[in-house]
Amino acid sequence: MMKITCPWCGVRGEEEFTHGGPSHLARPVVGDNPMGDVSDADWADYLFMRDNVKGVSLERWGHIQGCGQWFNMARDSVTHEIHAVYKMGEQPPEGWRS
Ligand SMILES: [Zn+2]
Repeated sequence: MMKITCPWCGVRGEEEFTHGGPSHLARPVVGDNPMGDVSDADWADYLFMRDNVKGVSLERWGHIQGCGQWFNMARDSVTHEIHAVYKMGEQPPEGWRS
């Protein structure tokens, strides 16, 4: 079982958390208007296409059985080693940025 450090609650068992997919995904933007027309292909890519990272990936995790907060994690998808945990809106630590 993984031990995960919630930025607000501290170390807890993984059964208290849920995986929320990759973090730092940018919505497609046309020009300067974030509400502009985006092609169906670009929108489908944003919604459904994800890298299948072998190694360190940047992910969203929620402490659903605890404080309910969401945060980011740099985790190795092979070894499950957690390299960093950081709050939403923060950038990953140097060395873990994509
Ligand atoms: Zn928490």
